[in-house]
Amino acid sequence: MDFDKYAEIVNETAVYPVGASVLYPLLALGEEVGEVQSIFAKHLRDRGQIIEGESGRQYSRLSSLVLDEEERAKVRDELGDILWEWAALCIDLGFPLSEVAQRNIIKLRDRKERGVLHGSGDNR
Ligand SMILES: [Mg+2]
Repeated sequence: MDFDKYAEIVNETAVYPVGASVLYPLLALGEEVGEVQSIFAKHLRDRGQIIEGESGRQYSRLSSLVLDEEERAKVRDELGDILWEWAALCIDLGFPLSEVAQRNIIKLRDRKERGVLHGSGDNR
């Protein structure tokens, strides 16, 4: 599916009031990211590999984050929700989805060519 087609569907399925443009998808985007984080957090809490650390404190190994099929399906669906909210935010701000994606690719390729993919800061 291309970005233009996806944007059409986002417009068809957006039910928030026009007055909530920008703010609604901005807030909901954070909510959806939190839902993905919650799946991983619950996995770590309930099924993470617990090891004994110094001073008797227990830790979960991040390497134990191998999700089962049900968890993977939930993450996949939440990533779809993230995509929808991201697209709605772009649309509300007047940015074509393809332009946002293309500019991001240009930025990342430039950083790769200059060897500054690692590090931090927006203006690398
Ligand atoms: Mg969701």
